[in-house]
Amino acid sequence: MTKKLYLSDSYLDSCQAQVLDILETEQGQAVVLDQSCFYPQGGGQPSDTGLINATQVKTVRLAPDRTILHYLAASPDFEIGSTVNLEIDANKRQMHCRLHTAGHLISHLVDQLNLDLNPYKGFHFPEGPYAAFYGSIESTPEFILELENKLNDLIAKDLKVQSFIATEQQVQDLNLSAPEGKQVRLVQIGDYQAMGCGGTHVSSLSEIGKLRIRKIKSKKGETKISYEIY
Ligand SMILES: [Zn+2]
Repeated sequence: MTKKLYLSDSYLDSCQAQVLDILETEQGQAVVLDQSCFYPQGGGQPSDTGLINATQVKTVRLAPDRTILHYLAASPDFEIGSTVNLEIDANKRQMHCRLHTAGHLISHLVDQLNLDLNPYKGFHFPEGPYAAFYGSIESTPEFILELENKLNDLIAKDLKVQSFIATEQQVQDLNLSAPEGKQVRLVQIGDYQAMGCGGTHVSSLSEIGKLRIRKIKSKKGETKISYEIY
């Protein structure tokens, strides 16, 4: 298992690590490290890209055994046992943190307004991000504008975003589950209810910038709220 440094610091954009293995895969060579600041794609958040020494990392995935696989775009300039320098694309990470946190904020507002929608999925990619819910709503341009204004008011309040490991009681209260022997990580915006999440987030809401609701679409009992930030 790779130690996931991004869990304790979303702003960590470089670190050192030891190369434990270099695997030959159908997608090219994949590097296994003892620890990593690279976020592996998952939970609706895209993978980081960056460098291990001078070798480009094209994508990062989490293997079933929780090992982080760093897929290389070229032959490595290091070998098994080497100590290497990791550096992620910090601008890309920052955008992912902003989009991801905005997705959580939309879920909180939907809950606060009692819209009778249950969140089930977030898609926090720069290409067409949205928050998806079970349930349908009637949406009008006025309603979208109202939602957008409320979200921007919340962002302007600059609420703090914290992440921490859940206590057993919190795991029970929030009806969460974790793989055997694993801890549950929670993220909490201001005083909103904490939620289980393994992604990266901004540390306070003003970092999101401005949020625009692009559209709200209900279909077959599901609703997608599409947004963008600028
Ligand atoms: Zn999250």
